[in-house]
Amino acid sequence: MTIGVWVLGDQLWHEQSALLGCVQQHQQTPVILIESLAHAGQLPYHLQKLVLVWSAMRHFADQLRSHGWPVTYTQALDFNTPLLEWIERYQITELRVMTPTDRPMQKLIQKLNLQIQVTFTPSNRFIWSDEEFRQWAAGRKRLIMEDFYRQGRQRFNILMEGNQPVGGQWNFDKQNRKPPKGKLTFPAALWFKPDSITQDVINFVKQSEAFQNSHNYWHLEPFLWGVTRQQALQVLKFFVETRLSTFGPYQDAMVTKEQTMWHAMLSPYLNLGLLHPLEVVQAVEQAYSDNSNNSQLNSIEGFIRQVLGWREYMHGVYVYLDNEYPSSNWFNHTHPLPAFYWTGDTQMNCLHQILTQVKQIGYAHHIQRLMVLNNFALIAGISPQELEDWFHAAFIDGYDWVMQTNVLGMGQFADGGMIASKPYAASANYINNMSDYCKNCAYNHRERSTDNACPFNFFYWDFLARHYDKLKNQPRMTQILRNLERISPLELQKIRSLASNWHTIQVATCQS
Ligand code: SF4
Repeated sequence: MTIGVWVLGDQLWHEQSALLGCVQQHQQTPVILIESLAHAGQLPYHLQKLVLVWSAMRHFADQLRSHGWPVTYTQALDFNTPLLEWIERYQITELRVMTPTDRPMQKLIQKLNLQIQVTFTPSNRFIWSDEEFRQWAAGRKRLIMEDFYRQGRQRFNILMEGNQPVGGQWNFDKQNRKPPKGKLTFPAALWFKPDSITQDVINFVKQSEAFQNSHNYWHLEPFLWGVTRQQALQVLKFFVETRLSTFGPYQDAMVTKEQTMWHAMLSPYLNLGLLHPLEVVQAVEQAYSDNSNNSQLNSIEGFIRQVLGWREYMHGVYVYLDNEYPSSNWFNHTHPLPAFYWTGDTQMNCLHQILTQVKQIGYAHHIQRLMVLNNFALIAGISPQELEDWFHAAFIDGYDWVMQTNVLGMGQFADGGMIASKPYAASANYINNMSDYCKNCAYNHRERSTDNACPFNFFYWDFLARHYDKLKNQPRMTQILRNLERISPLELQKIRSLASNWHTIQVATCQS
């Protein structure tokens, strides 16, 4: 009997369960990694995402070889053909794969016609296993992130003093919402020059006919992401030493042309498996232990909440979801995604700045994603599924498991409130407060019903009016709906016609 291990492109870690189970016989265990061109062509993915995944896979294959694993690395149209050749060559009788995080990939593997036993080993790439999350969720009426996060803190003994949170409270969010006012000095980001392996992938993607569509949207170079675990660890250390202390207060702020600010930039590496979330959480917690005073606690807790809280919770909910979740559309939003999401070509400066940055590096931070990109689509009534596909294609850290919960649940409230306790809808007021975008915009952030009114304003009130009957049953919307009721019928009519005309103009622009 010969076991062979297939390592997927987001499982690039020596201790992942499929490899770990064979480590005693690793010199006799064939391993395969496959670049599938058809798989990469499913969406017009950001070109830098293709380079990141394939270069990281090639580097990981080299590392496995240097540890004595017999590795086959191949590029093909599909997965089936190279797998069959490899199985034949090594006379493999059992294929082991760590359970894919993305459900479509799991289904694809189950449908392959390999004529041998296929074993999924339980995934160990998250802090909570799938089974542990199911047990936590079973019997709960609502899956509340805060409950899950506190249990995670206690269970893994993170930022705890006995059974109490350090600093006497679980959450320091009030200290973490500073607008970017005054003179701020932003730290440099840690980027990497492509090595010869990465440069080969860049050259391939540049020349390949298969990705010509993506070339219309995304910048391929400069490509500056890390592609190895060693580089990912450098980024983690760099974050802890140079950014963490200021990360918390300004984590929601947005500043023109500041692409990374104090953000950790670790999500691409976590999502490839180059870093394990528990080691990231523990490295950040260590910064608290190393510091004799509590001055950074709001930053440290804020970051740990994102990884041990939100990231684990979003993955757990994805595991827990039913097959209908991807088609959720509670508001029945059906407008097509505006073309400017792909091009960045819009007079709305906030969207223009963020979309331009996404074109350049495939990244925007969580508030840019939630309160600008998602918010606009929500209030303008864009199809949640079209938006999710766009997020999945555009972001360097985008995968099915990340985007379903974050875009459909959190950003679009398409699940009717399973994840978010209210829709994240906001007018220009929020964007003007948390960014410097509005002062250089063609629209007026104070206007909601004039010809120069900011579209975030007229869409915000139109959204509330359009869905009044649904929203009035949401407890956290009561006060907001009272504000809507104060708008005169005449002004509301003007607002609603601006919203409707905006869509008419979009359609006309697309057809011309
Ligand atoms: Fe965005 Fe409106 Fe501000 Fe312009 S005025 S930057 S569109 S929020």
